[in-house]
Amino acid sequence: MTNAGLDISEWARDGVNIVPLQGHRVVGGKVMPIGAAPVAGVARLTYRGGPLIARVRLFGVYWGSAWRAMGRAGGGGPVREVSRQALDTFLGDLAAGAYMDILAEYDAQGATIQRGTFLGSAVVGPDPAARVSDDDIRAMLTQRLADGELPPWDANTLYVVYLPQGTSVEQGGALSCRVFCGYHDAIVDQGGNPSAYYAVLPYPGCAGCAQGMDGMQLSPFDALTTTTSHEVAEAVTDPVPGTGWYDDQNGEIGDICAWQLAMLDSYVVQKEWSNAAGDCVGPAGG
Ligand SMILES: [Zn+2]
Repeated sequence: MTNAGLDISEWARDGVNIVPLQGHRVVGGKVMPIGAAPVAGVARLTYRGGPLIARVRLFGVYWGSAWRAMGRAGGGGPVREVSRQALDTFLGDLAAGAYMDILAEYDAQGATIQRGTFLGSAVVGPDPAARVSDDDIRAMLTQRLADGELPPWDANTLYVVYLPQGTSVEQGGALSCRVFCGYHDAIVDQGGNPSAYYAVLPYPGCAGCAQGMDGMQLSPFDALTTTTSHEVAEAVTDPVPGTGWYDDQNGEIGDICAWQLAMLDSYVVQKEWSNAAGDCVGPAGG
């Protein structure tokens, strides 16, 4: 599976915390086409001593007034539309359902990874520009936290930021839908202490962000649930990227299994790497 027209050689950058476009993977911190670089041995995540999220508390942050209107009309058809309501319901299932059980083997330093909770969501303004940077997203989160529009952060809280259709995101010189489909990160102070964990989910308006490994086309909603599951699993096991569970050759837990799909109840999600199974695994019953 290739993405025509994309120059892979320009992608040599820190890809530690992104979902690469379908057909690509993170190898040694770089985004590479699948099959382009040999993987030394089987993947194995090792713990680097940093924080984990033991009982995740997900809060949806819908940036822009477009989210107030999206998905209001219609619904009920076989293809679920992207809406705040539909994504909120998914986030509830993701946080509190069988998906978190996959991650339980990655306990460390007394932290036991368990099922968590969905805290709620907010539509926040002002409307984003057509292109926003990671710095813009951090500034928005910091401001909305200061305003009290978001619940205060604690070490279990992960803000899941959804961008509206038509807004692309720039992170580390790379653009969403050109190089990546989502990422997660932490706001960390000078002393290395985190003050917020967040994941960023641009609208998946491109084929490279809406296709399973087997070539199956995903609706925008299914693409968002897949990429959200990837980022949430990575944030739980490696909230400050590279300091938790990580594999120097293959990246984070979700990178090893990028675009391998599974079901969580009625939702399309991504499989995650299991050291215990030596394979990518989905939730029980999926
Ligand atoms: Zn990833």
